[in-house]
Formats: sequence, structure tokens, C-alpha cells
Amino acid sequence: MSKKERITMAHGAGGAVMSKLIKTFILPYFGGFETEVGLEVLDDAAVVDGIVFKSDSHAVKPIFFPGGDIGRLAVAGTVNDIAVLGAEPLALACGFVLEEGLLFDDLRRVLEGIKGASDEAGVFVVTGDTKVVEKGSLGGLVVNMSGFGKRSRALDHNLAIVRKYRSESSSRWVLDRNLRKGDKIILSGTIGDHGLAVLSAQEGLSFGSNIVSDVRPLNHMIKKVLEVGGVVSMKDPTRGGLANALNEWSDKAKVGISVEENEIPIREDIRVACEMLGIDPLEVGNEGKIILGVIEETAEEVLEVLRATKEGKSAKIIGKATDEFNLVAIKTVVGGRRILTTPVGDPVPRIC
Ligand code: MG
Repeated sequence: MSKKERITMAHGAGGAVMSKLIKTFILPYFGGFETEVGLEVLDDAAVVDGIVFKSDSHAVKPIFFPGGDIGRLAVAGTVNDIAVLGAEPLALACGFVLEEGLLFDDLRRVLEGIKGASDEAGVFVVTGDTKVVEKGSLGGLVVNMSGFGKRSRALDHNLAIVRKYRSESSSRWVLDRNLRKGDKIILSGTIGDHGLAVLSAQEGLSFGSNIVSDVRPLNHMIKKVLEVGGVVSMKDPTRGGLANALNEWSDKAKVGISVEENEIPIREDIRVACEMLGIDPLEVGNEGKIILGVIEETAEEVLEVLRATKEGKSAKIIGKATDEFNLVAIKTVVGGRRILTTPVGDPVPRIC
């Protein structure tokens, strides 16, 4: 990158442009530190001495949107990133950057969002920090939420089931790179809801329907699937959506992924709104969904358990990992096949 280049909105949009920024510009300053799951792995969280650690800043615009707010989003984002490694989230640290002029009533609503999501997750803020900056373009406030978690019995059971069927597996965590050919890909519910809800609030669009964000902590649902066992990879398809998450798996695990378009759950109103706006719902971020890579032997049982939860009631097996090719291919509704590439960035700006 030349000295004259500047940061653009695409550098925070969760696609190929952001990935290049992190890998070529940021990582060289921090990589190379020996740890269990380190920065180079670029998974959802890191593991140091058995402690799972994650930090996430939230700058969603606007701070209130149908189905949620920046506080609820901050808790869900951090709790979910810890839980998808197979860990049990334990506590949170919350840092506020408040903009001069913010209404106390708005701050109160954000605090209520944090409290509500913390109560649901059973994971609470135990430390934090508050700063104020001059009136500008912050849009009210920015929330940083960090958190940590630890191993659980459910994770040990899950990995024991994986090892029963897969002798070469030695992973101690549920990581993106663990996916192998034959593993089933499960999506825990409908996609596009969060991005479209935020977009409707940004643009004052109504889409003539009731589109609300799916933002929610998923640690209880995740614990239930670990108790079944056989989960090798999990990820929350946030910025860049399903397209970005599947391509990350394919890259890191060096395996192809074949997806059936027909099987991807999308609400009809989301599909219509995306068509109207010229947006691909597979590239839109979600905040209350996960994808799971599960060994073939337990995939049906994992699906059944997911579907019995309120968070995962629309879960479906959407495809499988394969060694026939080395990319993400999607079998279209009409029977053709197209390559699903990493999006340049999420089509909706500042969704988290
Ligand atoms: Mg994540």
C-alpha cells in the first residue's frame, strides 16, 4: 500500500478488502507469538493458556434498529465469537466511547440492551471504561465488548465423538481449519435478517413487511449441539454473510464446499427485498445464526437438536465439504453450478 492510500468504508466491511488489510498491513505487527490458537489463525477468537479471549468493537449505524440496538449487538457478537470455538463464555468487559450530545435516554436504552442480552446469555459485564469525544460523526456511541471463556465438559464430549470416527483429529477446539471432506454443513436458520433490518433503519425503508434483526446470544444453543457431539467447525456468518464465512472455511481447511441453493433458508420478504435492492442475501451479515461443520455420523442428530431450540428452529443441512474441488460451489435452483466467491465487502455498511 502506498503512503497516499487511505482507509475506505470497504476496509471494515468484512470481505476481501478487509481481509487484505488485516493480513498484509496489521498482522505483520502482531503475528508470530506462540500460543494455542493465535492471531495468524484468524479464527473467531484466540486461545491463550486454555483461556478463550475475544474483543469486538461495535459501530452500527443507527444505534437502534428493528429487533435490536448497539448494546444487545455488542453482547451477542462477543458471546457468539467465544462460543463458536466450543468454549463456555464467562464474563465481559465493556468500553464506551460516547459522543458529546448523546441523550441520556438513548444511553439508558443501550444499557438495557446490554442487560437484556447478558441476562439471556448468563454472561455479565464485570469491568469496563467510559470515554467522551467531541460532537462529530460517531452517530451517538461506539461500544467495545471484550470477553473470555474456558473449556467445558460439552466441548470435551464433542471432541471425543469426533475422535471416535476420525482417528487423525487432534484439535482441542472447534476451529475453521478442522473441516474435512464428507462433513455436513448445517445453517442454524434464515439469513439476511440482520443486514436488511439495519439497512431499513439507515435508509428509512419499510419493505412493506416486518423485517427484524436476528441479533441474539447463541451460547445455550451451541452447548446443546456440543452435547450431541461431532461438531468440527462453527462460525457466525456476520459481515460478508454466508458467502464470506464459507470461503474462509474453504481457504483455511483447504477443502471444497458444495452448497444447495434450494436448501438455504431465507424468508420470502428478505428474498424479495434483496431482489428489489440488487443485493445478494448470501453476502449480507447475520448476528443470530451459525454455520456448523459436523461429521456425517452425527449430522442428522445435531440438526434435530438444533431444530428443537427456538434459536435454531429453521436449521437445515445446506451442503457438504468435498475434495472434488477447492472452492465454494453452489448448486442453483435450476440445477446449474456457480462459484460462490468471497464478497468484496458486505453490501450494507456499518451493520455491527
Ligand atoms: Mg465470528
